[in-house]
Amino acid sequence: MAAADSQRILVWLRNDLRLRDNPALYHAAEAGQGVVAVYVLCENFIERHSTAPARLDFVRRHLVQLQADLAERNIPLVLLRVRRADDIPHQLLTLARREGCHSLYFNAEYPLDELDRDRDVAEHFRRHDRHYKRFHDRVILPPGQVRNGQGEPYQVFTAFKRRWLQLARELPMVPHGLPAVQPDTLGQVGDAGVPLEALFQGIHLKDLSALWPAGEEEALRRLAEFADGPIHDYKNRRDLPAEAGTSTLSPYLAVGSLSPRQCLNAALTANEGRWDEGSDGVTTWISELVWRDFYQHVTVDFPQVCKNRPLQSHTDGFPWRSDEDDLNRWRRGETGIPIVDAAMRQLLETGWMHNRLRMIVAMFLTKNLRIDWRQGERWFMSQLIDGDFAANNGGWQWSASTGTDAAPYFRIFNPVTQSERFDPDGRFIRKYIPELAKVSSRQIHQPPPVSGYPAPMVDLKASRKETIALFQQLNGSPSKG
Ligand SMILES: Cc1cc2nc3c(=O)[nH]c(=O)nc-3n(C[C@H](O)[C@H](O)[C@H](O)COP(=O)(O)OP(=O)(O)OC[C@H]3O[C@@H](n4cnc5c(N)ncnc54)[C@H](O)[C@@H]3O)c2cc1C
Repeated sequence: MAAADSQRILVWLRNDLRLRDNPALYHAAEAGQGVVAVYVLCENFIERHSTAPARLDFVRRHLVQLQADLAERNIPLVLLRVRRADDIPHQLLTLARREGCHSLYFNAEYPLDELDRDRDVAEHFRRHDRHYKRFHDRVILPPGQVRNGQGEPYQVFTAFKRRWLQLARELPMVPHGLPAVQPDTLGQVGDAGVPLEALFQGIHLKDLSALWPAGEEEALRRLAEFADGPIHDYKNRRDLPAEAGTSTLSPYLAVGSLSPRQCLNAALTANEGRWDEGSDGVTTWISELVWRDFYQHVTVDFPQVCKNRPLQSHTDGFPWRSDEDDLNRWRRGETGIPIVDAAMRQLLETGWMHNRLRMIVAMFLTKNLRIDWRQGERWFMSQLIDGDFAANNGGWQWSASTGTDAAPYFRIFNPVTQSERFDPDGRFIRKYIPELAKVSSRQIHQPPPVSGYPAPMVDLKASRKETIALFQQLNGSPSKG
């Protein structure tokens, strides 16, 4: 066991489950006095945030690899399980004392619950004469840095992106390498923490390892493969769910086996260092990375979104419906609208859904069924392997016309038109709805009665009209056009 006056550093890993380009880990290892890593599973966070069993299993599989990879660098990984977030400060301090760690390093997380948790931990360490250091790895530009001329946060994405590009291109974008190997005499932590099996004992897990192998090697392999070719076609293929036109890196970015800086770096390399010219595919993909940063910034600048509130307060009074039967039909992919059902079944089967489809099903739930977007947000979190509060909340509030730079309430996607446009031959629909396998491509978007497949549960035109009328009645609602 380490001496009490040791200068080791405790690194608290959360959604940054990688060795490379991990600022907290990298800087702790540079100090050269020994590093102990810790991962804390909080039961209450899992319940409150409806974390998907597929995502939890993905984390579990990452931890297996991480423990082995860290051990090769003489960095032990201690696993702790707590009931409530309130237990974390004490547990971390006890571990720090026991292992002779004078400082705690971690990478920031931005939703309110996480900020509160981290403030409590930092305060506890300060009170007990230990240091802490917070780094930024979840975003390319940290919240607070992208401001307009008045020093205010942006609410409109295009203006945010313009400023973001000005700032980001001035920065070195070379990711950190591996953390330095630590002196091996410091590598033992005895019986601290719990074994991996106990960490997840009694917690519902869903194994999707065949689709989503874990680990940073896999994440980097996928990134390299995408940046080596498909990225250049991204602009043309990104909206076609039947094609492998997007990177499918979101699960790896969500648990942090990949950093957004590594993504940006690979994209820039593929485009000979150019940010907003050259390959259309690359510049469009960089825009998506900026959207990702944008929503992380929104959670900090507009914390009401973390409290189940709409960003645009005038939409607070919108009469959302609550109908468990309708909600369940949507959840199960039994709405009778093929593109919606195929998308919802893709989510159930693979833990992931194509971006175009996320928008279609979210609009359908909020604008045609008029069910509260928070129900959809929660269901997504409970199923997505890439569940990320900021991106998910941003996507839902965009679709519900309650958020930043949201879809105007009168511009409602028609799922049938979307289907005809983005899945023209019905290839994606047939993959997930075998009942419709024999329906012609012309009819598949709005099929005639087929045995075993439901009729549409809602009249698309009438429900659209009704929703627009209700939005128009809201006080402070922006006028059409
Ligand atoms: C209702 C709704 C809910 C969503 N929930 C999530 C979520 O929980 N987690 C999540 O990571 N993304 C979410 N998104 C955003 C987007 O759908 C996914 O990031 C994307 O489909 C992931 O696939 P990909 O990795 O192939 O993306 P690519 O198209 O290859 O994009 C690269 C990366 O950019 C980021 N990105 C892309 N689009 C967006 C976006 N609109 N907003 C924020 N980041 C983006 C992702 O990290 C993605 O991996 C949601 C979108 C909507 C409309």
